[in-house]
Amino acid sequence: MKTKLNTAIFLMLFLGVIISCTCNNIKNSETVKPKYIFLFIGDGMGTNHVNLTQAYLKSINGEIGYQDLTMTTFPISGTCSTFSKSRLITDSGAAGSAIACGKKANTGEISFYDDINESESSPMSIAKIAEANSLKVGIITSVSINHATPAAFYAINESRSNYYKIGKQLAESEFDFFAGGGFKYPKGRKNNNTDLYNICANSGYNHITDITEIPTFTKPNDKILFVNPVLWADAEMPYEIDRTEHGGYSLSQIVSAGIDFLDNENGFFMMVEGGKIDWAAHENDAATIVNEVVAFDNAILEAYRFYLEHPDETLIIITADHETGGISLGLGQNGYQSDFALLANQKMSSYQFSSIIKKYKTSNSAYKLDDIIDLANSHLFFDDINLSDYERSQLNDAYMYYFFNETDLDSNQLHNLYGAYNPIATIFTKILQNRASVGFTSWAHTATSVPVYSIGIGAEEFSGNFDNTDISKKIKNIMGW
Ligand SMILES: [Zn+2]
Repeated sequence: MKTKLNTAIFLMLFLGVIISCTCNNIKNSETVKPKYIFLFIGDGMGTNHVNLTQAYLKSINGEIGYQDLTMTTFPISGTCSTFSKSRLITDSGAAGSAIACGKKANTGEISFYDDINESESSPMSIAKIAEANSLKVGIITSVSINHATPAAFYAINESRSNYYKIGKQLAESEFDFFAGGGFKYPKGRKNNNTDLYNICANSGYNHITDITEIPTFTKPNDKILFVNPVLWADAEMPYEIDRTEHGGYSLSQIVSAGIDFLDNENGFFMMVEGGKIDWAAHENDAATIVNEVVAFDNAILEAYRFYLEHPDETLIIITADHETGGISLGLGQNGYQSDFALLANQKMSSYQFSSIIKKYKTSNSAYKLDDIIDLANSHLFFDDINLSDYERSQLNDAYMYYFFNETDLDSNQLHNLYGAYNPIATIFTKILQNRASVGFTSWAHTATSVPVYSIGIGAEEFSGNFDNTDISKKIKNIMGW
């Protein structure tokens, strides 16, 4: 009897092990991994930039609260730390490298690691790993395509300032799709090298500026360098707030065209940078930031639409490389009062208004403060700004300094007031922001953690608090790379 019982127990345990092994095998062989990976990087986009945009969108409807953006509706969220190897406050070079390669770099470096032990393999960007695993790869940015963030995914260089060498590495990358801004210094800083666009053409890239041509490239090995037809001084796309006046494509149009081009049976990896959230934040230009975040979120919406068609095959991750500007939603002088809807009165970027002021300065020999106010009322604002006595005195200080170099302030005080930017344009946007209760504590980056939003296959890996080096590690884990 006892033997029979033992045999029965043994058989049950044996069957249990078999069943358990079979289940594990099924689980392993069916481990689901995404075929399509989107990594969105809002350059300089802290949680406060997202919250400002959400609160603004509610405010213009006369409501209090935070309006959902596509990214904020994603089911998984977390934060990641951004410090570089050499500084607590990072830059896009070090942060882009950490996100792309999963290893801290020094500030200013582009995926450059010269301290690898013999036992370690050299860190490789997640985009290059995707390419080596037969995924098509697309790199999209609203700033120049050889700028730090996109560069971290295809180039290796000790300095982000080596734009020409970085551009040459783009041509050698074999990635399928580059789009958005053009090359900064396409012929080098001295303008005496072979044009990067020619080098790209010789490497098989089709350089186009008409987005409707993208679908005409249908061969499996077709490679595209799509450059926005409207570029500004550093080969970047215009700010979204200025696009109606200056033209060109939106980031979402470019992402949409990129998805259609890259879609193939092996899947794709796409990195999209909203690069000018950072630039607007450096300029402490809140209305322009809000428009950039909305444009970035509209680009995310294109990926989300693709996800809805392929929910079992897509992973979307949104993050930022660092925070810029130290934005506060609320301002000391106004106590608990805020009215972010006032930002809607600004109709162009502070950057764009600067060029109008510069033009006035160079084309006139005598200046009047009232001319400057007229220029602001006709170009910068929808409704007349109607300055208070205090605001008029702030403007007068900027006017005396900019036009006549007269000021009682020392260089530190001037920097605190105007940064490195046009004092007139800066003071007008500051006046508007002060009324709205949006504050800035820096003209540069800050060290606060940045948000991470995620949806799709493997998204649960991106919950909680982690480091920017974990992002590519997590993608590699999910993909089994
Ligand atoms: Zn920056």
